[in-house]
Amino acid sequence: MIAPTLSSIPATSAILHRSFSKEYPTAASGQGVYIQDHTGRLVLDGSSGAAVSCLGHGHKKVIEAIVEQAQQMSFAHTSFFTSDPAENLASVLISTCPDVFSKVMFVSSGSEAVESALKLARQYHLCNGQPDRHIFISRRFAYHGNTLGALSAGFNPPRRDPFQPMLSQAFRHVSPCFFTRDGLPGEDEESYVDRLVAEYETTISSLGSEKIAAIIVEPVSGATLGAVPAARGYLGRLRELCDRYGCLLIFDEVMCGMGRVGTMHAWQSLGGIAPDLQTIGKGLGAGYQPISAILIANKVHAVLERNHEQRPFVSGHTYQGHSIGCAAALATQRAIAEDKLLDNVRRMGERLSRRLKKETPMLKEVRGLGLFQAVEFATATATPPGSSIAAAVASTCLENGVAVYLCSSAVDAVLFAPPFIISESEIDKLVDVFVQSVKQTIEKAKGS
Ligand code: PMP
Repeated sequence: MIAPTLSSIPATSAILHRSFSKEYPTAASGQGVYIQDHTGRLVLDGSSGAAVSCLGHGHKKVIEAIVEQAQQMSFAHTSFFTSDPAENLASVLISTCPDVFSKVMFVSSGSEAVESALKLARQYHLCNGQPDRHIFISRRFAYHGNTLGALSAGFNPPRRDPFQPMLSQAFRHVSPCFFTRDGLPGEDEESYVDRLVAEYETTISSLGSEKIAAIIVEPVSGATLGAVPAARGYLGRLRELCDRYGCLLIFDEVMCGMGRVGTMHAWQSLGGIAPDLQTIGKGLGAGYQPISAILIANKVHAVLERNHEQRPFVSGHTYQGHSIGCAAALATQRAIAEDKLLDNVRRMGERLSRRLKKETPMLKEVRGLGLFQAVEFATATATPPGSSIAAAVASTCLENGVAVYLCSSAVDAVLFAPPFIISESEIDKLVDVFVQSVKQTIEKAKGS
């Protein structure tokens, strides 16, 4: 571990931090699953930030790749040049499912990837002579990013409400897919999915099917609802709907993708239904560089290519395909493959889920796939309605040296998304500290 050299933030910090009222420790160094702050305190990164640092911290091969690329060629604008790391990374990504995807577009953040996917969907319809297809259907309590288009697509009330009305009115929201919470008494998973599909059908026909550009969903809902995998059959039914009505299917895998659930793409763990466009980010570059991408299916690319002279896709960002970002992501993806880390994701995910289910007090549900697991608390039965146990637990956990991600106020839940390199003993420590923190939080609540 490198000795900490940075001091804590001065009261006069010039940064507009996320919160005005909170003190932020300085992250001074990182190694494996740990981050060390300026006081020397170690924090186990139990959620990889926000499901980002999938290789943990201080990964030598990724750092070497970054240094090498920086020395050779840091940045060349994509209007003029391509680069080896971008070409190689695109090939690696396509090789994950060559039958589905044929092209990749690189950008820098998850929000940018979502914005670009929405534009690519519009472009596809423009090329097909269907300019009226401009409405997107997404779901309540989805999270698709923080830029104004992506914020309109999503439905994360605390992040969205202050900025109402949304800049874009092109989004209609239907129910989320959350069988364990929203299934009616006596309703099985299949009938639940039938009900959701009927809602899509009604929405599509009331808007006019010829106006729908795409349906966008997270195959495993992440930041807002906390690791909720799509119900059995749901993604396949969306695929059928899109094919029937001529709109595209977009999967937002910024959080749940790139190995997080134990398969490279989350949809591969959910019946193998592939999208037309897919966003990826976070784990793509493991936090070593800001990079995200859109995977483009053969069907979409064929239309774009056929029409590119009359209708070029006019959409670019200064830093798209940044050489250092691509080099970092390429080294990340090679490390995941060489070290067979997805096997570890599945194994450690099972251990994490099993222990959380057995040991968490006041548990309502443990849900998720691989190393993407959420714990929801049975708050309503034990505390005054509306009060959040999860927020208090997350903050006690941090005091006790473990960082877990607090889901939005839509559920009383925290999210676990540790690095793929996590060991059995580190999983055990994560659970031990978490369970201890829940007990302390309950004791404190009783005393107050
Ligand atoms: N889509 C999903 C599913 C996400 O979880 C996130 C970030 N949590 C985003 C998009 C936005 O990514 P970013 O914060 O990198 O812009």
